[in-house]
Amino acid sequence: MTAARTVARKTPATETALELNTLHTNAANALTLRLGAQLDLMVLVTELVTAMSETTRLGSVALLLMDDDAAALKFQTANKPDVTALLRNQLYISLRSGGHPDGDAGLERGRCTIVRPDSLPADSVFQRAASLISQPFLVAPLLVGSHLQGAFLLWGQETDAPLDESTLALVETLAPTAAIALGNARTHSETVAELADKMNELRILRRIDRELMDTIELEPVFLLTLDWAMRFTSAQAASLALYDQELDELYGFVDNGYDVPQEQINLLRSTYGGGIAHRAARSGHGEIVPDVSLDNDYVPVSANMRSMMAVPVMRNDRVIAVITIESRRLNGFTDAHVEFVEKLASRAGVAIDNARLYTDTWREREKLSRILSAIADPVIVFAADDRLAMINQSALNVFKLAPEQRYEGRSLVEVFGVDEFCSMFQRAKSVGGSSEELKMQDGRTFYINTSLHEGVGWVVVMHDITPLKLTDQLKTELVQTVSHDLKQPLGVMNGYVELLLLQNKLDATGETYANMILRSIGAMRQLIDDLLDLAKIESGVKLELHPTPIATIISESIDATRLMAEKNHTNVINDIRADLPPVAGDAPRLTQIFNNLIGNAIKYSPPHSTVRLSALVTDSALRIAVRDNGIGIAPEDQARIFDRFYRVRRSETKDIEGTGLGLAIVKRLVEAHGGQIGIESHLGEGTTFHVSLPFATG
Ligand code: ADP
Repeated sequence: MTAARTVARKTPATETALELNTLHTNAANALTLRLGAQLDLMVLVTELVTAMSETTRLGSVALLLMDDDAAALKFQTANKPDVTALLRNQLYISLRSGGHPDGDAGLERGRCTIVRPDSLPADSVFQRAASLISQPFLVAPLLVGSHLQGAFLLWGQETDAPLDESTLALVETLAPTAAIALGNARTHSETVAELADKMNELRILRRIDRELMDTIELEPVFLLTLDWAMRFTSAQAASLALYDQELDELYGFVDNGYDVPQEQINLLRSTYGGGIAHRAARSGHGEIVPDVSLDNDYVPVSANMRSMMAVPVMRNDRVIAVITIESRRLNGFTDAHVEFVEKLASRAGVAIDNARLYTDTWREREKLSRILSAIADPVIVFAADDRLAMINQSALNVFKLAPEQRYEGRSLVEVFGVDEFCSMFQRAKSVGGSSEELKMQDGRTFYINTSLHEGVGWVVVMHDITPLKLTDQLKTELVQTVSHDLKQPLGVMNGYVELLLLQNKLDATGETYANMILRSIGAMRQLIDDLLDLAKIESGVKLELHPTPIATIISESIDATRLMAEKNHTNVINDIRADLPPVAGDAPRLTQIFNNLIGNAIKYSPPHSTVRLSALVTDSALRIAVRDNGIGIAPEDQARIFDRFYRVRRSETKDIEGTGLGLAIVKRLVEAHGGQIGIESHLGEGTTFHVSLPFATG
């Protein structure tokens, strides 16, 4: 089976040195061939002891491997089970103590030697081996360069080859080959082990990253970090504490793995302080304490801990926490452990930040939601994608939504269904926000303000105006009733005064008085008509909108005010072309609007003035201007002339009759058409009213 077998052994007498040398070299070559490129250390060691035994024809071969950390050769394997049984866990050659100059020290120089138990010096490093083997044996150190990889111990029975110079020479020739093979396999297995460690480390870090991403509360983050730190370092207990750099204080300890009640741990800490953890927090550097009994700062939380490591958790160059890990073994931690826990710590740092941010955000949200629920008005906040971001108790009540359900994150339609509120919201959004009244199904009316807030979304605030609506309704009814009841006697009064005048029985003074009464009755009637009209419009005027040519309306209004214009010698000029596109209008109401505006233009201009009517086509509306060069309106009055009963009090206006209701009615009617009214005026120069009316569609 092997080349080694074919090596013929001749008696020493017939061998010349040259022959021997050739034989040995051949055997070494055969060994090289046999071992090949075997890199699996476990396979190689077995192969080595077998091959050595077969090549040297020595029955027992043991292989010892060098443990550099312990500076000792340790039994690894043997070619026979009985040898393994004899030496396993027993054979251990420490090289620390130097060794005997004649044989022992030769180990590190790679010199093969024959050890004879009966003539062994007392301080020889082979004492233990000699007492276990209890017969002469050959020691072959395996050296690669100056690095001792291991050693063979070889011996035999009577039937085996003798332990003589020739065997020694053969082993000396074979040893370098075996040493190289062993060295290669050891380097390889170390690389593989390192690689496996690295892979394991990466796997753990990846898992931690995944788990930390899902965790936003601090305590689970801490426990998870500690758990992994302990697993990786094979330690028994660990703690994580937050660190306040300004106060130089550790707080919020989380402990994992201690076999001591938590109260006791807390008590110890309050008595002795943060110990080594505190030291690491202050220094900002990770450290290993190989033997805690030698460290004065150590706080013995659990009696059976022997070594410790502490690693600060850094965030933006500040220490924000410290991780400490304890082991029951002396010297239980390595630099690789510190390196790994530092990696964990940096992840924990991010997680702590995230958790803090989350907690802060959550607290702010809680605050906001408490404020919101204290608000009596319903408030609803929608994110930009129409998903509900917040809703207060009052809104839940109005929409009859179950308070225990979570509506946040659900869509508008999902929560509110397709109803008036939804359409209102969509309408508001399409015009960038609005204020509208909305009658709910329970009969209540809300004034709803919808507005967009940067970084928040759409905020809908609803104000219950049902009581106001009721009062308004009552007022309207009252006005209607009173006005109606007033009109009746006024009609009678008017009739009798006119009769008085017809009968010609009055003298000149009497006639003047009667005419004054008639004028006052006229003014009162106008007031009552305006009041009734306004009440009607405010209670929700129903317009019949049809495509209406504005030129026709304006002509009618000019006709209606002609008498007035003539009386005042006002020149009314109509610049409006007949071929303008029609507006969407209710003809009688449009006439009412322009009667009022043209009437006012005449009324509030001195005699011989000019009133000019013109129209401008804009994108979606017709803009009609009623311009006069009359007395004008002061800026402070411009803001109020559309209010009910507001009349400008000036010397020029004191003799002009009016109710202060005309423009209030005009504004409401224009808006009911979906239009707008605006004013441009300068005192003493004149006034222009602009009325924009949407074009008729289709
Ligand atoms: P009134 O019945 O008093 O005319 P309006 O509501 O029509 O009431 O107008 C409100 C006030 O606005 C008037 O009292 C007047 O002072 C002012 N005003 C309206 N139109 C004009 C105008 N064309 N020029 C100057 N002042 C005007």
